[in-house]
Amino acid sequence: MQIIDGKLVSETIKKQLAEKVTELKALGKKVPHLAAILVGTNPASETYVASKVKSCAEIGYNSTLLRFDAQISEQHLLDHIRSLNENADIDGILVQLPLPKHINEELVINTIDPNKDVDGFHPANVGRMVSGLPTFIPATPYGIMLLLEHYRIPTKGKHAVVIGRSHIVGTPMSILLSRNSYPGNCTVTICHSQTTNLKEICLQADIIVAAIGRPDFVTADMVKEGVVIIDVGINRIADATKKSGSRLVGDVNFKEVSEKASFITPVPGGVGPMTIAALLKNTYFASQGQQVKLN
Ligand code: NDP
Repeated sequence: MQIIDGKLVSETIKKQLAEKVTELKALGKKVPHLAAILVGTNPASETYVASKVKSCAEIGYNSTLLRFDAQISEQHLLDHIRSLNENADIDGILVQLPLPKHINEELVINTIDPNKDVDGFHPANVGRMVSGLPTFIPATPYGIMLLLEHYRIPTKGKHAVVIGRSHIVGTPMSILLSRNSYPGNCTVTICHSQTTNLKEICLQADIIVAAIGRPDFVTADMVKEGVVIIDVGINRIADATKKSGSRLVGDVNFKEVSEKASFITPVPGGVGPMTIAALLKNTYFASQGQQVKLN
């Protein structure tokens, strides 16, 4: 069994991007600039945005964090996005989700300039991804594709089971794994809360991507020997042995499933750091007026 070390791979990607920043500076060109919008004080969102901003600083990008009170009006938020769209110094815009209930997320995403939509959630970019055109691929699935490639994990002809159909993880993941090049060419089954025979389906899987949001959901009796496990879940559970009183676990019971897996991502240290590395890659491409083309 091999651990897929997302932390290590993400550090390699960040180093490569830092070198590109050094080159841009040497040529007297502007460095990539990411604008992040955070509405309210959701603790998980605070942590995610903070690590994105910190990673920008680490590799020499500029970043701007716009924080708004949870009561901000939808109109006011949209005005801020429009002004970032028009600001030539800003290359990438991300709005940390979820947003407060009174704000229409779809409207917010649709307002971001698709050329600055480094999260890849704008329908124009989703459409481009589905069509196999250069685009901004949502950071988590993009990060997973980079991991599969880095570890040269065979995907051609394999049965990939994606559990979860969200717009940010499960659905794009299923599309990317089914495309006609590496890493892809999988036969993909996408499962969700209405799937009736999940265990039987998982037992047929060569690759499982778990993006559910339920701790230890995938157990050893659900997987076959040699399975490749990509655990996207980030769940905080109580743990009295920790100073904080809690710890992070994935959607997969790592202890038991790792005994059967050929490759497995740990939580933390697997998909999470790759999500940030992929976002930084998208931002670099945006700053160069380009989008991402997978092989
Ligand atoms: P969502 O809540 O949007 O989607 C969860 C999906 O899981 C839904 O499609 C849901 O089905 C499905 N599901 C829920 N219960 C079951 C069940 N009992 N059986 C089968 N399917 C089920 O979550 P996200 O996709 O946003 O995130 C998933 C997890 O990944 C979370 O833990 C999140 O924190 C984590 N995450 C991690 C990231 C990282 O960087 N590592 C980035 C983004 C997310 P249905 O559609 O029918 O409701």
